[in-house]
Amino acid sequence: MLISETGVPERFIETDSWGGQTMARLEDGWCAALDRDTMLCSIYEKRPFICRQFEMGGYECLEERGANEIIP
Ligand code: SF4
Repeated sequence: MLISETGVPERFIETDSWGGQTMARLEDGWCAALDRDTMLCSIYEKRPFICRQFEMGGYECLEERGANEIIP
């Protein structure tokens, strides 16, 4: 969810059925702003507020990557 203005480019934003703005996802289910080659955020300096609260390399991050076989 986009809950504040951080400069996310419009092409990465979708509006859900309740009128809320969210990050767009591609067919693989991952965020449209994720660089699939590097697995890094392509809009890091403009990433949504909620992304800034998510600890890089933290438990949830590693669990998500592990669940999707991104790391062994
Ligand atoms: S931090 Fe991750 S979820 Fe957030 S905008 Fe970047 S790629 Fe998308």
